[in-house]
Amino acid sequence: MGLLDIVPAGVITGDNVKKLFDYAQEHHFAIPAINCTSSSTVNAALEAARDQKTPLIIQFSNGGAAFYAGKGISNKDQQASILGSIAGAYHVRSVAKHYGIPVVLHSDHCAKELLPWLDGMLSADEAYFKDHGEPLFSSHMIDLSADPKEENIRITKQYFERCAPMKLWLEMEIGITGGEEDGVNNESADKDALYTPSEDVFEVYQALSPIAPYFSIAAAFGNVHGVYKPGNVVLRPELLEQHQQYVRKHADLDKKHPLYLVFHGGSGSTEEEIKTAVSYGVVKMNVDTDTQYAYLAGVRDFVLENKNRLMSQVGDLSKGDDDDTPNKKFYDPRNWIRHGEKTMYKRVQQANTDLGNVNTL
Ligand SMILES: [Zn+2]
Repeated sequence: MGLLDIVPAGVITGDNVKKLFDYAQEHHFAIPAINCTSSSTVNAALEAARDQKTPLIIQFSNGGAAFYAGKGISNKDQQASILGSIAGAYHVRSVAKHYGIPVVLHSDHCAKELLPWLDGMLSADEAYFKDHGEPLFSSHMIDLSADPKEENIRITKQYFERCAPMKLWLEMEIGITGGEEDGVNNESADKDALYTPSEDVFEVYQALSPIAPYFSIAAAFGNVHGVYKPGNVVLRPELLEQHQQYVRKHADLDKKHPLYLVFHGGSGSTEEEIKTAVSYGVVKMNVDTDTQYAYLAGVRDFVLENKNRLMSQVGDLSKGDDDDTPNKKFYDPRNWIRHGEKTMYKRVQQANTDLGNVNTL
């Protein structure tokens, strides 16, 4: 039985997300979560997943969402981030089912000072739920990993209680993902905090599992955001298996991998590291830095190759152009932006391949 026999195409929520994650664990693959900042990047990711016949996770970061709304809108009280994530969500909901693949719609890291953003999205989820019987988003992330553990778990639990009636998923982070992303800098974090102990993961499990099963955990195993020189990062994916077995034993569970784990800072990781993490029950891997670079590459190469044609609206024989016809077909954004979409498409497909997520429908 294939994935499309158990979940529909388009944005999925609640139990369908659970079915997807269980299916991924059983079939030993994980789904890339692609950070998107525009309808163009959303479409490139959807097209890539459709052509490889795979499910996909699309996510908006706080800054990415503000960009989606428009840099001209003030982000006072998180208004641009709230508006942009909702606009992005409606775009994804409008087009996703036409690509014929299941899509998880997610929002990325939300630290304590950004909680008004999460509150705004949750209000949109509740309004959507009233009309449609499901939330607008499939899931959100809350990231209080910079706060003391007790505080992290206490506030995460409160938010999870608000999500649960909608079967809205919540991803949380315990331990710190190193590096820098979306303006949050953990480059000087304490090295021990980069490796979450199993006891802490179990505490999260104990706090959240009585409420609902719809949660996932980003536990730190030396992973960092961004791409650094080789050797800078010591990944210990075996910690993930330890967490799984610790929870399994202490909660007396049958399931081989009871936790839905999330791999942050996937950009720059080796194929082997990714494979190992997936074999330990990782269901989602975030990809941002590498797809940003890929999107640029197509635009950059197009501009460099057609530099002359882009310097004026009409070809100029005196400047070495072949003819003096209009250059519109070069500078039309549908042309040069499409080149960025094509190179991003390839990078999304590479992430899928690394995660074993090819022909998984
Ligand atoms: Zn992250």
